[in-house]
Amino acid sequence: MNINTPLPAAVLSPELIARFTAIVGERHALTDAREIEAYVTEERNLYRGRSPLVLRPGSTEEVAAICRLASEARVGIVPQGGNTGLVGGQTPLNGEVVISLKRMDKIREVDTSSNTMTVEAGVVLQTAQEKADEVDRLFPLALGAQGSCTIGGNLSTNAGGTAALAYGLARDMALGVEVVLADGRVLNLLSKLKKDNTGYDLRDLFIGAEGTLGIITAATLKLFPKPRAVETAFVGLQSPEAALKLLGIAQAEAASSLTSFELIAEIALDFSVRHEGNRDPLQSRYPWYVLIELSSPRDDARGALESILERGMEDGLVDDAAIAASTTQSQAFWKLREDISHAQKPEGGSIKHDVSVPVASVPRFIAEANEAVVKLIDGCRPVPFGHLGDGNIHYNVSQPIGADKAAFLARWHEVNTAVFDIVLRLGGSISAEHGIGALKRDDLPGVKDKTAIELMRTIKAAFDPLGIMNPGKVL
Ligand SMILES: Cc1cc2nc3c(=O)[nH]c(=O)nc-3n(C[C@H](O)[C@H](O)[C@H](O)COP(=O)(O)OP(=O)(O)OC[C@H]3O[C@@H](n4cnc5c(N)ncnc54)[C@H](O)[C@@H]3O)c2cc1C
Repeated sequence: MNINTPLPAAVLSPELIARFTAIVGERHALTDAREIEAYVTEERNLYRGRSPLVLRPGSTEEVAAICRLASEARVGIVPQGGNTGLVGGQTPLNGEVVISLKRMDKIREVDTSSNTMTVEAGVVLQTAQEKADEVDRLFPLALGAQGSCTIGGNLSTNAGGTAALAYGLARDMALGVEVVLADGRVLNLLSKLKKDNTGYDLRDLFIGAEGTLGIITAATLKLFPKPRAVETAFVGLQSPEAALKLLGIAQAEAASSLTSFELIAEIALDFSVRHEGNRDPLQSRYPWYVLIELSSPRDDARGALESILERGMEDGLVDDAAIAASTTQSQAFWKLREDISHAQKPEGGSIKHDVSVPVASVPRFIAEANEAVVKLIDGCRPVPFGHLGDGNIHYNVSQPIGADKAAFLARWHEVNTAVFDIVLRLGGSISAEHGIGALKRDDLPGVKDKTAIELMRTIKAAFDPLGIMNPGKVL
């Protein structure tokens, strides 16, 4: 793992820098270390990269010209969107040239009859959501970084987020992509078709490839009917087992109207209240909480939510619940949930896991992982939270109170191994939604089917024979 290790200086001849600069224009070719800083660091300071050049192309043609030249000169390139990725995929760890897609932020077309929207890769997720809203539609991808992450990054990481339960992951929301290949060829797969069985599905290879197979320059996204009624509840309960049973009731009562079912451990709520100024929606404290959201095209969401909570109380699963009385209150519930990651910072070091297990195994996973990590590091504090409805838990472990942060973080790999062993035994995945990037690259061969790894290497070699496309990531 290349965390915080010094990198060799990258050498690009002045002539080569001048040729790259000529493609995008001087204003959009950054060589000054102060200007480059924001592109080689990331919010959590887990990775620090190094790059001699950041290019900010404004069109697909410019991206294609950059890739042609990078191939000719055999220069490694790292595509970057909003730089919010959590596995170091967007960081130039070995002095590569960064290709920032952020200037490519045009909405090319909105087609309300086909329910599609074609956008450039640098469009910020929140802008895409707002554009859909303007035409009375919903673009349902939603995640904490939506104010800065981009559609290109969302597709390249196959982002999940809080509405995956009802709408799926980014892959499920894309009909087509436009991609620039390593050699500069433009692959136009910008289809609006739901049905198109004409051979291998190349689109899906680029979604989730984390920039290792090509640069996504545009995408045709699916739009959905805008819900007329959205209802949110914050529920206190005793255990993940109770939460799982309540999920079953919610699915039976609300069917496809159930858009989110988020599990929160008391310690996670406590951090979010203490460090982010959020308010606990309930009168008393409970060991566990769930945030439930229902969205319906009809006005029947409130009745369904009340039935879920009533049945939950009758069955002894729900101890207390608050239903948001207004949009502001619903946003406050969500803020409490979204702030959990950030709220862990003041508590010192945090060793993270973005894992998934079959939904039914979530309670067992949490119980076994808690036991394993505390046995490994006495006094460490597990902070499990996440998308219970998808079996995706962000299993973070905060350092013991008063412990040395560096010494705690030095045990990252050891803690990962203990947690991943449980995940794999339960038939889960070591990366549910954040990807592999640099963080889990060395873990992948040990957990993935050997033939799958061989095929992935074959595909990589076919698309990027010179290995210039985000080298050292994923594989
Ligand atoms: C507060 C917070 C909350 C988050 N919540 C969630 C969540 O709920 N669910 C979830 O799935 N993720 C979550 N994430 C992480 C998530 O992966 C990113 O937020 C997002 O999908 C990445 O988009 P980006 O534009 O920032 O991409 P970047 O970080 O810039 O890049 C991510 C990866 O994609 C590649 N890439 C970027 N753009 C392109 C492109 N145009 N073509 C090819 N490759 C490209 C990069 O090389 C890199 O490998 C969260 C992150 C933060 C900071």
